[in-house]
Amino acid sequence: MTFEQPLIRPPSEWRSGLIRVTRGCDWNRCRFCGIYPNLGEPSFSVRPLADILADVALLRQLRPETETMFLGDADPLQAGVATISELVRHLRQAFSLTRITCYARASTLNKLGRDGVMQLAAAGLNRIHLGLESGSDEILRYHRKGQSAKMVREVATWLHDAGIELSVYVLLGLGGSSLWRQHALATAELLNAIEPAFIRVRRLWVYPESPYGPGSPLLGEIAAGKFQPQSPEGTVLELQLLLQQLTARGAEFTCDHENNYIKVKGQLPRDRLAMLAQIEAFLARPAREREQHYREVGSRI
Ligand code: SF4
Repeated sequence: MTFEQPLIRPPSEWRSGLIRVTRGCDWNRCRFCGIYPNLGEPSFSVRPLADILADVALLRQLRPETETMFLGDADPLQAGVATISELVRHLRQAFSLTRITCYARASTLNKLGRDGVMQLAAAGLNRIHLGLESGSDEILRYHRKGQSAKMVREVATWLHDAGIELSVYVLLGLGGSSLWRQHALATAELLNAIEPAFIRVRRLWVYPESPYGPGSPLLGEIAAGKFQPQSPEGTVLELQLLLQQLTARGAEFTCDHENNYIKVKGQLPRDRLAMLAQIEAFLARPAREREQHYREVGSRI
């Protein structure tokens, strides 16, 4: 017995039941990404609800004890409030769940509006993973993210009012070596304003072509000299500057991806100084050791 599963899930959803609502990414334009074409899913489609519910029935047979659910792929809310609400209500009836989560683009939440977000919360969706990436509009525009800091602030307010936890992703290196300070400062400012429940840090990795599809669109920009990648040490300094500026309360801050050069983790504001001390201790190590460490950290999806 098999069922369709999302191609990608957040590391924190490793125990979750995985439900594929959409295939690929409808936006598919972010310069730093291109992940779904790279994994062999270049186009976008919404799966029929009947097929999704058949997968749910199968999961109920295989893993009836499932406590958390994740809906994929990149932007399942494109299926619409009515469809997602029906699915979420169905999942709540079929399983004893503490959490139902999904990836969502800020621009999709913006289109659904405050009422749409409230309806999703009422149905039982209670956490959203959102690619914040950067708080700098200049950097977001360059990377064709299709969102602004203002838009993120607005949808974060709706989510907060609806009682949906917000888990955001920050991408170190997105400003390259020239805009790294702007990237860290503007991102900290946005995080301080929206105070998400989770801040999850990643490092930009410009991945090559795979057997299934093309490499990241940013490869062409780098080859043309239009984007100068951040250095490994610069990435650590970005993390340090970001944490120095964070005043957000209540967030769990975590570098929960293998690509991170430094994996600090803690509750804000309680553990901020301890995380900074960890970074400072690393930067105080001899240059040769630091270089060795950077070489040893792998890059993977
Ligand atoms: S970052 Fe997200 S929205 Fe942008 S192309 Fe990749 S999957 Fe799509």
